[in-house]
Amino acid sequence: MLNKHENIAHISTGEMLRSAGDTELGKKAKSIMEAGELVGDDLMCELVAERLLEADVAEAGAALDGFPRNPIQAEALQGILEGLGYSLNLAINIEVEEDLAIKRMLGRGRSDDTLEAIQKRLEIYEEQTRPLLEWFTQKGLLVTIDGSGTEAEVYKLFSAAIDNTVSMEKTQK
Ligand code: AMP
Repeated sequence: MLNKHENIAHISTGEMLRSAGDTELGKKAKSIMEAGELVGDDLMCELVAERLLEADVAEAGAALDGFPRNPIQAEALQGILEGLGYSLNLAINIEVEEDLAIKRMLGRGRSDDTLEAIQKRLEIYEEQTRPLLEWFTQKGLLVTIDGSGTEAEVYKLFSAAIDNTVSMEKTQK
Protein backbone atom coordinates (compact mmCIF):
# COMPACT_ATOMS: atom_id res chain seq x y z
CA MET A 1 0.00 0.00 0.00
CA LEU A 2 2.82 2.35 0.87
CA ASN A 3 4.58 1.77 -2.41
CA LYS A 4 1.38 2.20 -4.38
CA HIS A 5 0.10 5.33 -2.69
CA GLU A 6 3.21 7.21 -1.71
CA ASN A 7 5.61 5.96 -4.36
CA ILE A 8 8.18 5.26 -1.64
CA ALA A 9 10.43 2.22 -2.10
CA HIS A 10 9.36 -0.47 0.38
CA ILE A 11 12.43 -2.34 1.61
CA SER A 12 11.53 -5.36 3.72
CA THR A 13 14.64 -7.19 4.87
CA GLY A 14 12.58 -10.31 5.69
CA GLU A 15 11.14 -10.26 2.16
CA MET A 16 14.63 -9.89 0.70
CA LEU A 17 15.72 -13.01 2.57
CA ARG A 18 12.60 -14.97 1.62
CA SER A 19 12.92 -14.07 -2.05
CA ALA A 20 16.57 -15.19 -2.05
CA GLY A 21 15.08 -18.69 -2.40
CA ASP A 22 17.60 -21.37 -3.25
CA THR A 23 20.65 -19.11 -3.47
CA GLU A 24 23.44 -19.38 -0.92
CA LEU A 25 21.97 -16.44 0.96
CA GLY A 26 18.48 -17.95 0.93
CA LYS A 27 19.67 -21.30 2.18
CA LYS A 28 21.78 -19.74 4.91
CA ALA A 29 18.90 -17.56 6.11
CA LYS A 30 16.15 -20.20 6.00
CA SER A 31 17.08 -22.23 9.07
CA ILE A 32 17.81 -19.09 11.09
CA MET A 33 14.44 -17.63 10.11
CA GLU A 34 12.58 -20.82 10.91
CA ALA A 35 14.14 -20.83 14.37
CA GLY A 36 12.91 -17.26 14.88
CA GLU A 37 16.49 -16.01 15.32
CA LEU A 38 18.09 -12.96 13.71
CA VAL A 39 20.34 -13.28 10.67
CA GLY A 40 23.83 -11.82 11.26
CA ASP A 41 24.18 -8.05 11.45
CA ASP A 42 27.03 -7.77 8.93
CA LEU A 43 25.08 -9.62 6.29
CA MET A 44 21.88 -7.65 6.90
CA CYS A 45 23.67 -4.31 6.85
CA GLU A 46 25.40 -5.23 3.62
CA LEU A 47 22.08 -6.17 2.02
CA VAL A 48 20.48 -2.90 3.06
CA ALA A 49 23.48 -0.82 2.00
CA GLU A 50 23.36 -2.36 -1.47
CA ARG A 51 19.61 -1.96 -1.81
CA LEU A 52 19.81 1.72 -0.87
CA LEU A 53 22.05 2.35 -3.86
CA GLU A 54 19.22 1.63 -6.28
CA ALA A 55 17.59 4.35 -8.34
CA ASP A 56 14.07 4.13 -6.87
CA VAL A 57 15.47 5.13 -3.48
CA ALA A 58 17.20 8.20 -4.90
CA GLU A 59 13.99 9.14 -6.67
CA ALA A 60 11.39 8.83 -3.94
CA GLY A 61 13.02 7.76 -0.68
CA ALA A 62 12.58 4.48 1.10
CA ALA A 63 10.73 2.86 3.97
CA LEU A 64 12.70 0.18 5.77
CA ASP A 65 10.52 -2.58 7.15
CA GLY A 66 12.05 -4.92 9.72
CA PHE A 67 15.35 -3.05 9.80
CA PRO A 68 17.06 -1.98 12.01
CA ARG A 69 16.24 -4.70 14.52
CA ASN A 70 18.91 -3.95 17.13
CA PRO A 71 21.23 -1.11 18.16
CA ILE A 72 24.14 -2.43 16.06
CA GLN A 73 22.02 -2.27 12.90
CA ALA A 74 20.67 1.15 13.88
CA GLU A 75 24.16 2.60 14.27
CA ALA A 76 25.27 0.96 11.02
CA LEU A 77 22.23 2.37 9.23
CA GLN A 78 23.14 5.85 10.33
CA GLY A 79 26.60 5.43 8.87
CA ILE A 80 25.24 4.01 5.61
CA LEU A 81 22.79 6.90 5.23
CA GLU A 82 25.44 9.49 6.01
CA GLY A 83 27.68 7.98 3.35
CA LEU A 84 24.90 8.29 0.80
CA GLY A 85 23.84 11.78 1.84
CA TYR A 86 20.45 10.58 3.10
CA SER A 87 18.87 11.13 6.49
CA LEU A 88 16.36 9.39 8.72
CA ASN A 89 13.11 11.34 8.76
CA LEU A 90 10.66 9.19 10.67
CA ALA A 91 10.31 5.94 12.58
CA ILE A 92 6.83 4.43 12.77
CA ASN A 93 6.14 2.03 15.60
CA ILE A 94 3.03 -0.01 14.85
CA GLU A 95 1.77 -1.15 18.23
CA VAL A 96 -0.27 -4.32 18.63
CA GLU A 97 -1.17 -6.37 21.73
CA GLU A 98 0.89 -9.54 21.90
CA ASP A 99 -2.15 -11.87 21.63
CA LEU A 100 -3.34 -10.17 18.47
CA ALA A 101 0.16 -10.15 16.98
CA ILE A 102 0.46 -13.90 17.59
CA LYS A 103 -2.99 -14.55 16.11
CA ARG A 104 -2.10 -12.58 12.98
CA MET A 105 1.24 -14.31 12.53
CA LEU A 106 -0.32 -17.76 12.90
CA GLY A 107 -2.79 -16.77 10.20
CA ARG A 108 -0.16 -15.80 7.60
CA GLY A 109 0.99 -19.32 6.71
CA ARG A 110 4.69 -18.47 6.55
CA SER A 111 7.03 -21.37 7.26
CA ASP A 112 8.64 -19.39 10.09
CA ASP A 113 5.27 -18.73 11.74
CA THR A 114 5.23 -21.73 14.06
CA LEU A 115 4.27 -20.91 17.63
CA GLU A 116 7.80 -21.75 18.75
CA ALA A 117 9.49 -19.44 16.24
CA ILE A 118 7.01 -16.66 16.97
CA GLN A 119 7.75 -16.88 20.68
CA LYS A 120 11.47 -16.71 19.98
CA ARG A 121 10.96 -13.66 17.73
CA LEU A 122 8.93 -11.91 20.43
CA GLU A 123 11.63 -12.68 23.01
CA ILE A 124 14.33 -11.22 20.74
CA TYR A 125 12.08 -8.24 20.03
CA GLU A 126 11.88 -7.44 23.76
CA GLU A 127 15.62 -7.83 24.26
CA GLN A 128 17.05 -6.27 21.13
CA THR A 129 14.45 -4.34 19.17
CA ARG A 130 12.35 -2.59 21.80
CA PRO A 131 15.37 -0.55 23.03
CA LEU A 132 15.36 1.11 19.60
CA LEU A 133 12.11 2.88 20.50
CA GLU A 134 14.14 4.92 22.97
CA TRP A 135 16.90 5.44 20.39
CA PHE A 136 14.40 6.85 17.87
CA THR A 137 12.60 8.89 20.55
CA GLN A 138 15.85 10.58 21.53
CA LYS A 139 16.34 11.60 17.92
CA GLY A 140 12.81 13.02 17.86
CA LEU A 141 11.80 10.59 15.10
CA LEU A 142 9.35 8.20 16.74
CA VAL A 143 5.64 8.12 16.02
CA THR A 144 3.57 5.30 17.52
CA ILE A 145 0.36 4.22 15.85
CA ASP A 146 -2.33 1.74 16.84
CA GLY A 147 -1.98 -1.40 14.75
CA SER A 148 -5.07 -3.19 16.03
CA GLY A 149 -7.46 -2.06 13.29
CA THR A 150 -8.02 -3.31 9.76
CA GLU A 151 -5.32 -2.96 7.11
CA ALA A 152 -7.07 0.11 5.72
CA GLU A 153 -7.36 1.70 9.17
CA VAL A 154 -3.72 1.08 10.02
CA TYR A 155 -2.61 2.37 6.64
CA LYS A 156 -4.58 5.57 7.20
CA LEU A 157 -2.69 6.24 10.44
CA PHE A 158 0.56 5.22 8.79
CA SER A 159 0.22 7.54 5.82
CA ALA A 160 -0.95 10.38 8.07
CA ALA A 161 2.33 10.04 9.99
CA ILE A 162 4.26 10.24 6.73
CA ASP A 163 2.25 13.20 5.39
CA ASN A 164 2.77 14.99 8.66
CA THR A 165 6.53 14.57 8.46
CA VAL A 166 6.61 15.66 4.82
CA SER A 167 4.62 18.83 5.52
CA MET A 168 6.70 19.64 8.63
CA GLU A 169 9.87 19.34 6.58
CA LYS A 170 8.42 21.64 3.93
CA THR A 171 7.64 24.29 6.57
CA GLN A 172 11.14 24.04 7.94
CA LYS A 173 12.71 24.62 4.53
P1 AMP B 1 10.22 -10.33 8.85
O1 AMP B 1 9.77 -10.55 7.45
O2 AMP B 1 10.59 -8.90 9.13
O3 AMP B 1 9.24 -10.88 9.85
O4 AMP B 1 11.57 -11.15 9.03
C1 AMP B 1 11.57 -12.55 8.95
C2 AMP B 1 12.89 -13.11 9.47
O5 AMP B 1 13.97 -12.65 8.64
C3 AMP B 1 13.28 -12.69 10.88
O6 AMP B 1 12.69 -13.50 11.88
C4 AMP B 1 14.80 -12.85 10.84
O7 AMP B 1 15.19 -14.19 10.93
C5 AMP B 1 15.12 -12.37 9.42
N1 AMP B 1 15.34 -10.90 9.41
C6 AMP B 1 14.57 -9.96 8.78
N2 AMP B 1 15.06 -8.73 8.96
C7 AMP B 1 16.16 -8.88 9.74
C8 AMP B 1 17.10 -7.98 10.31
N3 AMP B 1 17.00 -6.66 10.13
N4 AMP B 1 18.11 -8.51 11.04
C9 AMP B 1 18.24 -9.84 11.23
N5 AMP B 1 17.39 -10.74 10.75
C10 AMP B 1 16.35 -10.28 10.01
